[in-house]
Amino acid sequence: MPTTIFEEMSMLARATPGVINLGQGFPDGPGPADVLQAAADAVLRGSNQYPPSMGLPETRRAVARHYQTHQSLEVEADDVLITSGATEAIAAALLAVVSPGDEVILFEPMYDAYLPLVRQAGGTAKFVTLRPPAWRLDPEDVRAAIGPRTRAIVLNNPLNPAARAFDRTELAALAALCVRHDLVAICDEVWEHVLFDGRRHLPLLAFEGMAERTIKIGSAGKIFALTGWKVGFVVAHPGLLGPIARAHQFLTFTTPPNLQTAVAFGLDKPAEAFDAMRADLQRSRDRLTGALAAGGFAVTPSEGTYFLCVDLAASSVRGEDRDICRRWVAEAGVAAIPLSPFYASGQGQGQGQGSFVRLCFAKADAVLDDAAERLTRWRRKS
Ligand code: GLN
Repeated sequence: MPTTIFEEMSMLARATPGVINLGQGFPDGPGPADVLQAAADAVLRGSNQYPPSMGLPETRRAVARHYQTHQSLEVEADDVLITSGATEAIAAALLAVVSPGDEVILFEPMYDAYLPLVRQAGGTAKFVTLRPPAWRLDPEDVRAAIGPRTRAIVLNNPLNPAARAFDRTELAALAALCVRHDLVAICDEVWEHVLFDGRRHLPLLAFEGMAERTIKIGSAGKIFALTGWKVGFVVAHPGLLGPIARAHQFLTFTTPPNLQTAVAFGLDKPAEAFDAMRADLQRSRDRLTGALAAGGFAVTPSEGTYFLCVDLAASSVRGEDRDICRRWVAEAGVAAIPLSPFYASGQGQGQGQGSFVRLCFAKADAVLDDAAERLTRWRRKS
């Protein structure tokens, strides 16, 4: 298996003194003090022994309540499984749903864990490519990829790395195809709270006919800007959740109880806390977008996630995205993520092939300003 591009770029950044790491997506702030305090209290005063494999009852209830409140979903604690991060949830979902020989549809650019996990589950991936700069989901392309062995789709919405939030029209068309062809939708919705410009998250689970065929995956790490916590959750109809829970038993079995307690506390915070987080990130997005645009870079719109993308060709930067990212570390002192590894070919596809890089803006203002200045100086020189 390959080294993930996130680890590769972070290792490169750590090995090069003074580099600003806008590659791997993690915020540079400490995270919400009250959630951290809840975890500390739980470590000192709570149980440090195995919680139930499904998760602490209070955390499962909090996840259900959170989705009732924020996404009007009719879910109960019994429909919730707590996992050690969303990546584990995706692995458990694929192991539960995919049998050898089944086909699974993946959308390129795709998060780098999906393809190796589909293969480990014995599945064969079929690819549907979204094209820049709009990255729209074309139902005709999806329909063309569906065959008699197709079992599932994996949808990341909002989409990392393209920073797209799919709209109602795209999602309704996709849901209709899932229903017509009896497909399971594995929905990686870890960025559901990180949406900008007043957008609201549209869970595929809520579309007609999807309640019994959707596996919804979320992440406390993304919601609370605590990516190292690795607390994820799965929401699914009991018929789907049971096999996923059994796979989870043999992956990590359970998830640290103190972090689960703190996540339960955090999920119950008032809506304003989540609005403030979004507003903060939107300001950071605008700051980096503005500074890069002033430096002559073509930035594609970011509708959600911690990320924005730069179109190198449209910025008159010549070269392959991977090479440019290596050169940026060495010559500009900024680490970024190339988009090529998010394609099965490893090269990017379609128009603008190998031409996009992703930057994380979940950082302090001074860090963003410094990075934009370094990249602008580099662009002028080269
Ligand atoms: N989700 C993070 C990102 O997209 C990476 C997580 C990881 O390094 N595996 O940057």
